[in-house]
Amino acid sequence: MDGCLFCKIARGEIPAQVVLKTETVTAFRDINPQAPVHVLVIPNQHVGSAAEMGPGNGALLAALIVAANQVAAQEGVADSGYRLVFNVGEDGGMTVSHLHLHVLGGRRMTWPPG
Ligand code: 5GP
Ligand code: ZN
Repeated sequence: MDGCLFCKIARGEIPAQVVLKTETVTAFRDINPQAPVHVLVIPNQHVGSAAEMGPGNGALLAALIVAANQVAAQEGVADSGYRLVFNVGEDGGMTVSHLHLHVLGGRRMTWPPG
């Protein structure tokens, strides 16, 4: 996906504050943080959204969550708690069409979400 913003971040072609990188995923700080800790975890290979994930994507899903948990530990919110969010499609609030898992923490989250 040549024109995809998050593919470019994963390839290092656009600068981002990367906090964790593996063969499979990249985690970087959100440019417009909604909480003291706001990191996005993305697959290095393009996936459009969580809606495209099927039974064959179990390993990728696990890699995203394992990385998110590691980010939470690194950022010091593992014990206080954090929220993991996949926005999907327009009503879900998705604005970048490359799968990303939001890791939000450092403040008390509210429910229902906005
Ligand atoms: P979505 O609304 O699609 O679930 O989340 C996309 C997120 O990507 C938003 O929270 C937005 O602030 C973030 N974002 C958009 N463009 C950039 C960028 O160029 N760099 C970084 N680090 N984050 C971005
Ligand atoms: Zn992409």
